[in-house]
Parts: sequence; C-alpha cells; structure tokens
Amino acid sequence: EIDIKGLVKRFGANTVLDGIDLCLKPGERVAIIGPSGTGKSTLLRCLNWLDRPEGGRITLGDLSVDAARATRAQILGLRRRTGFVFQNYALFANKTARQNITEGLTTVRGWSRARANARADEILARIGLADRGDSYPAALSGGQQQRVGIGRAMALDADLLLFDEPTSALDPEWVGEVLDLIRAIADGRQTMLIVTHEMQFAREIADRIVFMEGGRIVEQGPPAQIFGDPRDDRTRAFLRRVG
Ligand code: ATP
Ligand code: MG
Repeated sequence: EIDIKGLVKRFGANTVLDGIDLCLKPGERVAIIGPSGTGKSTLLRCLNWLDRPEGGRITLGDLSVDAARATRAQILGLRRRTGFVFQNYALFANKTARQNITEGLTTVRGWSRARANARADEILARIGLADRGDSYPAALSGGQQQRVGIGRAMALDADLLLFDEPTSALDPEWVGEVLDLIRAIADGRQTMLIVTHEMQFAREIADRIVFMEGGRIVEQGPPAQIFGDPRDDRTRAFLRRVG
C-alpha cells in the first residue's frame, strides 16, 4: 500500500502542494487530471524526491519517510521503489536503447552486466523493440523513444510507476502506440500514478480519477462518476474546458 499524507511543497513563497493526502491500493491505477500549473508534476516528482517536499509523509510498503527529516537511505529507498516516465523521455542520448534500460539496473541495483542485459532483452521484447536494442535515441521515432522510457521504468520492477504526461511531447502519429503499451503493462501488478491530459485514456485505464487544482485534491472517484457526474464546480468547469 502507498500512503501520502499531508504532502507540502513550496517554491519560495509559492505553495505548490498544499497538503496532499492520497492512498493507493496495490496494483491500483490512478489518473491525475487538472489545470496547468496545479502541481501535478510536482506531486509525482516529490514521490521519488526529484523535488524535495517540505512536509508530510510518504509510505511505500515498509518504507515510511517523514519529508521534513528524510535520510539519504530513505530517499534512495523511495527511488528504488518507484519508476518514473518523463514527458520528454529523458533518455541518455549517448547510450543505446539497451544501455538506457540497463543503466538503472547496474548502477542503482548493482546487477552484473550480463544479468542486466538479459533483463533488457526481455523488456525490449515486451515494448516491441526487440530488434532495436543497439539503436541510439536519435535513430528512434518519438514513440519508440518513449517506449524505451517506459521500458527503463518497467525494468526496475518498482512498486510504483509514475507517468508524467507520457504522450504530450509526441507527434500525434505516435500517441497511439505509447498508450497501447501503457495499457498492455497496466495488468494490475504494479501500482500506477498517471498524470495525463488524455481524458479518454484516463477514463478507460484508471480505477480512480483524481482532480487537482491549486495544489490540492479537489475531488476523486471512479471514472464514471468524475466524468459523468462531477460534484465540484471546479471539476465541472475543467472538464467543460477540456471537452
Ligand atoms: P502542467 O499541466 O502545465 O504540466 P502541473 O500541474 O504539472 O502543470 P507543476 O509543474 O507541478 O504543474 O507546477 C506547479 C507550480 O510550481 C507552477 O506554478 C510552477 O511554476 C511551479 N514550479 C514548478 N517547478 C518549479 C521550480 N523548479 N522552481 C520554481 N517553481 C516551480
Ligand atoms: Mg506537469
């Protein structure tokens, strides 16, 4: 179980996360929606300490981290238990697809090169790139690069996969294949927290929709309720705007 309690993040005088409480069941798929600048990316980034929260508590299984006094070991623990898929893929340009996938396994996990390569080949097959392991990112399409980004996150077998608008940097022609891959891996084994502006996708993939605005969770519920019968005026206004 993943439990977020009272998470607070400030940038200077700007309170970007204003006490976020969110509990995820194992294998649950939760989509976060909401207006731009509302703290969605910051929430994801705080969960694996790409941004450092000022307050609150993050509990991932047997690891419980008090944000105000997190130790280095706890931060490493959070990073080990989470995989992050970035909007702009964030692949190493000077590494092949296979090396991008093995990097975390050899450095963070301490796996041998041979073991990591075997795992990478398994992952490359799952993401439909079995024959592109030796390609550098520049030689791959946007969709293929993002599939490598997803493969890299999957390879770590993390408890929690974090997706930050995984399709929003893609040319429209590549969106479908990336959404298909996320659907295929959303088999309920890994918990997923997905920030997306693809409402149709959110509706079909998520067990629960969380609507955020102004650094707070305004409303959450099953997709049918949030999209069909939103309770809060702000949710309604947002959904009207995004169509
Ligand atoms: P979008 O839908 O546009 O991606 P978002 O909901 O992901 O928006 P965030 O990126 O989390 O929003 O940003 C929330 C707020 O935090 C914004 O006001 C943003 O300007 C501010 N912010 C984010 N990162 C930083 C930073 N590194 N330094 C200062 N302010 C930041
Ligand atoms: Mg964002």
